[in-house]
Amino acid sequence: MNIHEFQAKELLRRYGVPTPKGSVARSVEDVARVGASLAPGKLVVKAQIHAGGRGKAGGVKLVNSVEEAKEAAASLLGATLITPQTGPGGKVVHAVLVEEVAPIAKEYYAGITLDRESRRMCLMVSREGGMNIEEVAEKFPESIVKVFIDPRFGLQTFEARALAEGLGLSGKELFAGAAVFMNLYKACLELDASLVEINPLVRTEAGAIVALDAKISFDDSALFRHKDLLELEDLTEIDPQEYRASSIGMKFIKLDGTIGMMANGAGLAMTTMDIIQQMGGRAANFLDVSGGASEEMIAEGTRLILEDPRVKAIFINIFGGILRGDILARGLLMGLEGKASPVPIVMRLVGTNAEEGRQILRDSGLPFTVAENLSQAMERIAEIVRQQ
Ligand code: GDP
Ligand code: MN
Repeated sequence: MNIHEFQAKELLRRYGVPTPKGSVARSVEDVARVGASLAPGKLVVKAQIHAGGRGKAGGVKLVNSVEEAKEAAASLLGATLITPQTGPGGKVVHAVLVEEVAPIAKEYYAGITLDRESRRMCLMVSREGGMNIEEVAEKFPESIVKVFIDPRFGLQTFEARALAEGLGLSGKELFAGAAVFMNLYKACLELDASLVEINPLVRTEAGAIVALDAKISFDDSALFRHKDLLELEDLTEIDPQEYRASSIGMKFIKLDGTIGMMANGAGLAMTTMDIIQQMGGRAANFLDVSGGASEEMIAEGTRLILEDPRVKAIFINIFGGILRGDILARGLLMGLEGKASPVPIVMRLVGTNAEEGRQILRDSGLPFTVAENLSQAMERIAEIVRQQ
């Protein structure tokens, strides 16, 4: 789960990470109210969307007064912002963050994420702030300083200081930087974040170390123990179909092919996508109905696939374990509302109650291709692909 910059900054403030003073605004009137609570002078108005690269796309506006901030907000609110991270469709701005402007002496990068190779959290910093870290890694790899954090001890003070030193900080600025890193790590750990990224982290002319931008992604598998964080989810940022699936425990991802697909378990779903590809087709979606899918989940999965007008056929690959064949069959009929599917459905159904499932489908009188085994199903898919 991702959250907005203003929400990430509110969380980080609780962990003692300095951020500019400011607040979120959802209307021009809100901007006036927020502006009145800030020091007079320069302000920055920042589009709140779940994507970076806003600066270059015109989503970050520096202004000289509250009046100008209102104008900037008026032009951003309701507008669609296209950045390298939004995709070609862009994202609609529903809120802006209005902040006091920090006089920047230098921009840095700081980020914590899981390093799978060492199986540790990695805190990395760079003197090259502002640009994305992939670009930094390519152009200035020597500027990146990393610490792989031993989970038994957590980030150590000497390691935090080494990172600050790596940024070229010294004196009280080095200690301020080290304190920020300690606090970022604490926030990351306690919030079960999979990523905490501050880009740019800045040194102000007064020598303070401040998070000017903030991005936090949470580990979805740990959200059950952070009920308060769930409230931060902005549903306008999420694909409505993907949301419908995830709200009942399934994983649905829209793709651009023509073969709709459903499988139980992420591993089998990925294998099924490979099979479709191998047969010369392209998957229209990824759908893992989960190992313990109910009739209603299967029905909703069927509806989600059929809503895509590009779908020319559906491949259902179910290995019945906890998910029984009869449940699959009933769910499928429920999703089809008892009517014949507008596109061919090819099914590989094995495991628990597979025969009962087949019987239910036969009794429905509707057309399904229920393959005896995987190779038969694959042949049928290949045939459909050839006919397209
Ligand atoms: P992103 O482009 O979506 O990552 O948005 P950022 O929040 O990182 O802002 C982009 C750039 O705008 C930063 O790298 C800064 O150069 C500039 N910027 C943002 N906030 C401030 C601010 O308070 N003061 C100044 N001087 N520049 C800012
Ligand atoms: Mn940024």
